[in-house]
Amino acid sequence: MNYISQNANIAVLSLLGVKCPLSCGSMRMSFGLTFKRTTKVRWRADFSQQCSLGSTGLFVPPSPPLDPSKVKELQRFITLSKRLLVMTGAGISTESGIPDYRSEKVGLYARTDRRPIQHGDFVRSAPIRQRYWARNFVGWPQFSSHQPNPAHWALSNWERLGKLHWLVTQNVDALHTKAGSQRLTELHGCMHRVLCLDCGEQTPRGALQERFQVLNPTWSAEAHGLAPDGDVFLTEEEVQSFRVPSCSRCGGPLKPDVVFFGDTVKLDTVDFVHKRVKEADSLLVVGSSLQVYSGYRFILTAQEKKLPIAILNIGPTRSDALASLKLDSRCGELLPLIDPR
Ligand SMILES: [Zn+2]
Repeated sequence: MNYISQNANIAVLSLLGVKCPLSCGSMRMSFGLTFKRTTKVRWRADFSQQCSLGSTGLFVPPSPPLDPSKVKELQRFITLSKRLLVMTGAGISTESGIPDYRSEKVGLYARTDRRPIQHGDFVRSAPIRQRYWARNFVGWPQFSSHQPNPAHWALSNWERLGKLHWLVTQNVDALHTKAGSQRLTELHGCMHRVLCLDCGEQTPRGALQERFQVLNPTWSAEAHGLAPDGDVFLTEEEVQSFRVPSCSRCGGPLKPDVVFFGDTVKLDTVDFVHKRVKEADSLLVVGSSLQVYSGYRFILTAQEKKLPIAILNIGPTRSDALASLKLDSRCGELLPLIDPR
């Protein structure tokens, strides 16, 4: 199955309408921030306990120092490649402050028992959609403010210099697009687009935020004081008062244009990526443990084609045994060192 759940990240999860069942006390300690609820749906950040690590360093697993010989090996791998396909996962965005799921100690699974919303529940239930969108509305300003890190910029530069045949990402955070990548497939969609479940019309997520604000004027001014992961707590009463707009063309229900847990990647998209893999002469994985089949299947295709495979990921992956080169380094430290020419 092509589930997105294990590729997403904690900030995305918050936007997916996931409620944190844990006491927020430990989260506050780990982020070095506290959030004071002043009045109904009003949140204010208190930075008096600011953590010296900063939010971006909190979600990157520890890794050994860069090994110069490994850097040289990756440089050779890239130099020899004429039609390189790169596949990225949540690990490339941790250095932008967006936690992943699986990393030891710092990943979502290690720190919370949050789980993402189910596609079927979202489609079937108007109250579930209302809850989802209320949390998504409050989390959006923080989530949409994340910026590309040097790894995203490096891959965009490789494309500009003609090194990159195609880029496939499992992330829904739009950071490759923000860095300027164009030869790009977002395998699981993108949180920055909204889709009508009835007529299929796509609209920008930013425009929906304005509609939320018009419909919910008492909520709008206070949607900023969030935890670094975009988390927010809302009571039933608050959720039930939240007004959700529908498709302006047909009145249908709206959903982020992402593949939720329990949904599958469109076959057209899968076929398209298979074709790009078959055209490639080598494959580089960046920041993915490849645990989820939706990405792993392209590794299998690359293996069938006997393409050389390199993997840059902190921690083991499902495909380490298939890789001719494995690097346990920070993506944003290593990729800018590689000369793509
Ligand atoms: Zn519609």
